[in-house]
Amino acid sequence: MTKQRPQDAYTNSIESPTYQSASYYFNNADHVKDGLHNRSVPAGRYGRYSNPTWIEVENKLSELSGAESSLVFASGMAAHVTAFLALLEAGDEVVLPSESYRQVRNVFHHILPKFGVVVHEFSIRDSEAFIENVAALRGRIKLVHLEMPSSPHMYLIDVARVRAAVGPDVILTLDSSFSPPPNYYALQWGVDLVLFSATKYLSGHGDIVAGVASGREELIEKLRWYRDTTGPIVDGNTAFLLRRSLYTLQLRMERVNAMGLEVARFLEGHPAVERVYYNGLESHPHFKLAQQYLNGFGGVITFELRMSEEQTAEVVDRLRVPFMASNFGAPHTLIEQSTFFTYFEYSDDELVSIGVPRGTVRLALGYSNEVADIIKDLDQALSHVLSGAGGSAAS
Ligand code: PLP
Repeated sequence: MTKQRPQDAYTNSIESPTYQSASYYFNNADHVKDGLHNRSVPAGRYGRYSNPTWIEVENKLSELSGAESSLVFASGMAAHVTAFLALLEAGDEVVLPSESYRQVRNVFHHILPKFGVVVHEFSIRDSEAFIENVAALRGRIKLVHLEMPSSPHMYLIDVARVRAAVGPDVILTLDSSFSPPPNYYALQWGVDLVLFSATKYLSGHGDIVAGVASGREELIEKLRWYRDTTGPIVDGNTAFLLRRSLYTLQLRMERVNAMGLEVARFLEGHPAVERVYYNGLESHPHFKLAQQYLNGFGGVITFELRMSEEQTAEVVDRLRVPFMASNFGAPHTLIEQSTFFTYFEYSDDELVSIGVPRGTVRLALGYSNEVADIIKDLDQALSHVLSGAGGSAAS
């Protein structure tokens, strides 16, 4: 059988084709020299190194974040791990917030120290104290990793003051999974590298797992070498789905921002609710920072019920609109009782120290639901259990 070359494509398709190829051919030795050796013509070589569909979505992601360059990864965690492996060396000292995503903390505490990285962790609950702690390490730190808003309390960080506290040479990375553009533009605030779980708002359909890193070319090139070498890549179809989703990011964020405020205000006014953590509410401890940094507050709301863990479970069980599931940024509304999901292995003392009572619930609004339906559903479940009609309602 002779080798079969792809059919000539139409050249006037508005959308680019999706490339699914494990490798790329060269016509002859000159083509290898031009495409591979001196790179005077664009050409692929092998599927782990590049793919035109990645390149297209990476360009769009750079435009979105105002970055020089971007890379897509197999997951948000793959983007984080690749960044830290690429940017850190044995002996480097790093800082991260105690409220960072659990698996990112695991990377800092259980993986990076194996390679000689020294880790300092401080809470961002008190934003001033965090800055003081970081400032006290000035001259010693190589990298500060931030995440905002944090989960479940939606704490924020005064990023510009962190930059001022550490000086211009420290690398600032920031996990912006909860606050993608247009809600927050991390790179405009002194951040060097913004990281995303694209599984969340960026892809926005709950149907892919992917990650993104965006920043200066010089940093991204370091990450690229690690991605090329270790292979945490997406396939062409996943890159296509991400690229397609970016068309609606602004619309989706506008919708969940509006839904978030409405549902958060409803919850704040409900007698069964002890407190609500939502950056758009004046009652949020970091409301002022939210006004300074965020253009919208997203669709994730954490609230504490004036109820036991069992009663809280009854409320969640009675809900008909949300799926009981861990994620956010999807079309569907999702809900998780924090002490049954993320913190199910924590002792009472540990829960007290991180400020997560057993009546804590995280609600991630989905743009395919109507806000009136969500509020009605929450109201019936809360009122039922509050009235004592629920099986174990006691106090
Ligand atoms: N960062 C945050 C804030 C997250 O919530 C998650 C996942 O839940 C990640 C990073 C990791 O992303 P992924 O699940 O795409 O690996």
